[in-house]
Amino acid sequence: MTSRAEARHPELTRRCRWCRAAPGAMCTNKRGFLDEPHGGRRDDWIRATTDCASCSAATNELCITEAGHLMEDHVHAERAQAADAMHATSLEDSSQDVPERRR
Ligand SMILES: [Zn+2]
Ligand SMILES: [Zn+2]
Repeated sequence: MTSRAEARHPELTRRCRWCRAAPGAMCTNKRGFLDEPHGGRRDDWIRATTDCASCSAATNELCITEAGHLMEDHVHAERAQAADAMHATSLEDSSQDVPERRR
């Protein structure tokens, strides 16, 4: 089952390298839970989910700039969009499994 938080923030399925939040748990700082997960956690999820059409980075590899530098803190916008699109599709697929909607 995908929780509502995970549907909105699929990166929650991964451990956070910044605050060490466990898979499924929201990110925290010293003051408590954050409203949004760490941006780097989202980038990790994007890298693990898709390859990059912009720089041809393979799944789980860092994006590379045109100058040949590894993008350790960012991914290409195209890659982020592809990951979001894939996630949206998987949410649609799972909602279509509901028997009441079959004709
Ligand atoms: Zn975090
Ligand atoms: Zn890229």
